[in-house]
Amino acid sequence: MRLKIMQMGEPALREEARLLMPEEILSEETQRLIHEMRDAMRDAPGVGLAAPQIGLPLQLAVIEDREDLLKSFSAEDLAERERRPVPFHVIINPVIAYSSDDKKNFYEGCLSLPGFSAVVPRARTIRVEYLDERAEPQFVQASGWYARILQHEIDHLRGALYIDRMLSRTFTTLDNWTRLHKGKPILQSPPAPSQDA
Ligand code: ZN
Repeated sequence: MRLKIMQMGEPALREEARLLMPEEILSEETQRLIHEMRDAMRDAPGVGLAAPQIGLPLQLAVIEDREDLLKSFSAEDLAERERRPVPFHVIINPVIAYSSDDKKNFYEGCLSLPGFSAVVPRARTIRVEYLDERAEPQFVQASGWYARILQHEIDHLRGALYIDRMLSRTFTTLDNWTRLHKGKPILQSPPAPSQDA
């Protein structure tokens, strides 16, 4: 069965997801869900998928940044974004225990809002505590693009989307991003909207 990814406007994307109990995590149902979410993320393709995006109000997300997704970016782009492959893993009941004051601005997108992108400031480094698919406590200290993916997915579990945090004047269609902005320097502090005109 192929999961349907909820699109912008679905109330499910705006609800706070609930915690999972360890026995629930270990259940056959949740284990099957994890596999289906992994397949849906790979099909999309995306680097993360959170349960609210398939209409389930659960604090569970899958993450994977595969080597072949990185191929369309130059070495400079990857270095600037501190983007490296991230193996497939699941985060359940995640908590951001630390978030650096150092913020980075980059364009990001979302499978629930396809065809658009915007610059979103995100902490460069974070520490996340979570349960894995065996209900074992884990933590990760992530920086760069992986830290961005984690923050984006954890936002989904709180009913937040990148458009809540974006620098709204950078909002663009993906076509225009590819045509006009890809590979160009990103404004670290875009000018404030003009009061006149
Ligand atoms: Zn998203």
